[in-house]
Amino acid sequence: MSLPLVAIIGRPNVGKSTLFNRLAGRDRALVAPMPGVTRDLHYAEVVFQGKRFTLVDTGGLSTVHIDELTAEVNAQVQFAIESAEVIVLLMDGREGLNPEDEEIVTQLRRVAKPIYWVVNKVDAPSLEKLSYEFYRLGVPELRSISARENIGVIDLFEHITADFPDATEEEDSQDENRPTRVAFVGAPNVGKSTMINRILGEKRLITSAIPGTTRDAIDVPFTLRDQPYVLIDTAGIRRKGRVQHMIEKFAVVKALQALDRTDIAVLLHDATSPLTDQTLHVLSYAEERGRGIILLFNKIDLVEQKPDWLAAIKHDLGRRLVGLDWVPVMYGSAETGKGLKKLFETIPIVRENQLRRLQTGPLNRYLEEAVAHHGAPMSHNRPLKFYYMTQAIVRPPSFVIFTNNPAGVHFSYRRYLVNRLRDFAPFEGTPIRLMFRGKKKERA
Ligand code: GDP
Ligand code: GDP
Repeated sequence: MSLPLVAIIGRPNVGKSTLFNRLAGRDRALVAPMPGVTRDLHYAEVVFQGKRFTLVDTGGLSTVHIDELTAEVNAQVQFAIESAEVIVLLMDGREGLNPEDEEIVTQLRRVAKPIYWVVNKVDAPSLEKLSYEFYRLGVPELRSISARENIGVIDLFEHITADFPDATEEEDSQDENRPTRVAFVGAPNVGKSTMINRILGEKRLITSAIPGTTRDAIDVPFTLRDQPYVLIDTAGIRRKGRVQHMIEKFAVVKALQALDRTDIAVLLHDATSPLTDQTLHVLSYAEERGRGIILLFNKIDLVEQKPDWLAAIKHDLGRRLVGLDWVPVMYGSAETGKGLKKLFETIPIVRENQLRRLQTGPLNRYLEEAVAHHGAPMSHNRPLKFYYMTQAIVRPPSFVIFTNNPAGVHFSYRRYLVNRLRDFAPFEGTPIRLMFRGKKKERA
């Protein structure tokens, strides 16, 4: 099931990013630089006091033109209404009540979702009186916080998350027996819906689908070649709107949420256009989240006639897919069905690879051989020693190497070890992780 989505909305400068960063932490947050979409989509999976949720701030502006500003705020409200489980409306207690706030409140009043009406920048109790004019709004419960000074923030989110499920109900990522979860992701118009319809064929009956907690994310169980799958359908979000880039933000948020939940991401790209930053960005997010990844160039029926189409794509890949040569690249057409057979032969292989468990014996043989072939460089005149290696988890396969000096392992040597490990066992389609830990004593 989807994580609950909490959307922070409000006019520019009321402190949305400050609040977002306080919750998400700069290093965990994804601030997505997506040309054509936004420079400022803030998205993070947050664990707060044992509750897990997705936090999004769609705001921030690249223009201050007043009409566009109004349109942007309206689109934010629309986004929150359509996508979020919980809405946090932020207002500026220093600036005071603004007509635009009143407009937003009017729009939100008819929404049957939990809404938190929050006055920010109440940095000291003496400022509390400033916020009294906000009572004119007549909202059920007005809260004041200071995002910058971290006053009232914890209390606010304790309320927000009270009914969320516990994060401690461990995710079943290590369960090898449940159906493989597959999500088709990619920019708008790459062919996700067409692809999903083609795969599910006549069986596509939304009414038989298991609805997720989010109306738009629907999990569809299906069987192909005796393999059970769950398809995480992100294609339901296609609305025409006046503010096109906000529509695209819906799509991006849904794609990122799907990536949080899936085992394998089939990332679609339109073969008629060169690789875009948006596609590469989704790819690197999937990599960060440790997901299985297949890159599929769709719509090849439109390019196949050109003699050099494959060479052109390969040239593009060589230039832009640096360090990701383990990602299987496939070619197909949702329209004609071409390539789908091969795709569904590859998915089980990626699944097998991401669940691969290597025993300590072979792993240590690998380690010994890798180090013998290319010794680790000295670190501050100390020789690096690697004692032994074990696998910690699967999905993604993650390994621990015990060493006399974890901090002394140069990134280029780590990369060497990872590449050797990929030669040693099949890990096509899955990220792998290598961690180094200190250990004084050598293994007996
Ligand atoms: P956004 O445009 O809504 O994302 O707003 P920002 O988070 O970028 O904040 C706008 C400005 O308000 C920045 O200068 C922040 O430092 C400031 N700000 C944010 N929260 C607070 C607060 O609680 N108190 C005060 N005094 N300033 C704040
Ligand atoms: P989505 O936004 O990613 O779900 O994209 P859609 O599935 O709605 O497809 C966008 C457009 O591309 C539609 O007009 C589709 O008919 C078209 N399309 C999708 N897949 C293919 C394909 O393989 N070949 C061709 N020629 N058109 C396609």
